[in-house]
Amino acid sequence: MSLEMAVKETPMNELPIMAPNEGIVLFYPNIPKNAATAVAEVLNTRWIGQGPKVEEFERQFEEKFSNPCKALAVGSGTDALHLAYILAGLEEGDEVIAPVFTCTATNIPFLYMGVKIVFADVDDNLNINVEHVRSLITSKTKAIVCVHYGGLPCDMQELWDLGKEHDIKIIEDAAHALGATYKGQIISSQSDFTMFSFQAIKHLTTGDGGMLVIKDPELVEKGKRIRWFGIDRSSKQKGIWENDITEIGYKYQMTDIAASIGLAGISEFDDHLAHRQNIYKLYVKCLEGVEGIRVIGKEYHDREHAAWLLTAEVDRREDLMLHLRKNGIESGQVHYRNDRYTIFGGREVGKFPKMDYIEERYIVLPLHAKVTEEHVRYIADIIKKGW
Ligand SMILES: *Cc1c(COP(=O)(O)O)cnc(C)c1O
Repeated sequence: MSLEMAVKETPMNELPIMAPNEGIVLFYPNIPKNAATAVAEVLNTRWIGQGPKVEEFERQFEEKFSNPCKALAVGSGTDALHLAYILAGLEEGDEVIAPVFTCTATNIPFLYMGVKIVFADVDDNLNINVEHVRSLITSKTKAIVCVHYGGLPCDMQELWDLGKEHDIKIIEDAAHALGATYKGQIISSQSDFTMFSFQAIKHLTTGDGGMLVIKDPELVEKGKRIRWFGIDRSSKQKGIWENDITEIGYKYQMTDIAASIGLAGISEFDDHLAHRQNIYKLYVKCLEGVEGIRVIGKEYHDREHAAWLLTAEVDRREDLMLHLRKNGIESGQVHYRNDRYTIFGGREVGKFPKMDYIEERYIVLPLHAKVTEEHVRYIADIIKKGW
């Protein structure tokens, strides 16, 4: 039976459910309890675009996650990455080293800029492979971007050392990793730039939104201008703006509507993160020793997983997906190797041996606010029956 047929034939209403007829779905947005009230409040004020709520959201985000660095709220994580790449000084013809396995959002902004992407292979936990990165550095390399896949921090010390040694900017795509720690410190403010996403299904959502944390305080004002057409908004609002624009900017700001949802999310963040981490650990425990499946990212002691994705390496993935689907459990891949896309130049077989090896072997299982311990035990039991 094909996967699509199985989807149609599964009697979802007899199974543990998220909502009627849904089964155990892969993702579900985490909407804070008082989000609707917060949005209603904003809609009754004069500011619904970028106003005081955006400022308050940035302030609370900085206090909780990025102290002492400044954080700029933007319209999406992709906006934040593009802004980071501009502020890092990347120009047409420069080279960047970037992960071959990530959300396309990490890499697409380089194409806006004519920057040459040099892909690096994955390591055993699907993070960027530092040894491969080292071998790819040339005199043209201006930045390295890494992604904390699923919420597991990359080998940052090695990357920071490479950055220092070769005078290369380090940019963290931390879209999966809000709340993760590395050697006891929260992921956010040690690299030149760190980006977070508040897209619908991330830990903290604003519908769509993002945050850019900037280490060099001298770049903050420029970041704010480029976020808004190249205009100095605060001068404009004071009425002293001289009506010239000298840098090309974008329309990348966050709105107060979105920020009010984000503020509601910050107040519940610790509980949500704890829930995700608890569910992740329960998966690890329940699947320990089960033949044909290995949970990815569980072996570390010097870093704490933010548990955005539960990814496992499995034998005969298609068969397992079908087996899960027949039992009302959704699974998927979420991200695909980027070199399969024509826009990135297409696939080169043999260049990324670890990616080649794992490409048909990784699976993502449900992990979100509505997944309960009971669900995890049920999923593990279904897996233990064999596929
Ligand atoms: C979600 C995500 C992004 C992009 O975020 P948007 O807010 O959707 O633009 C970037 N990188 C990774 C790894 C992501 O998962």
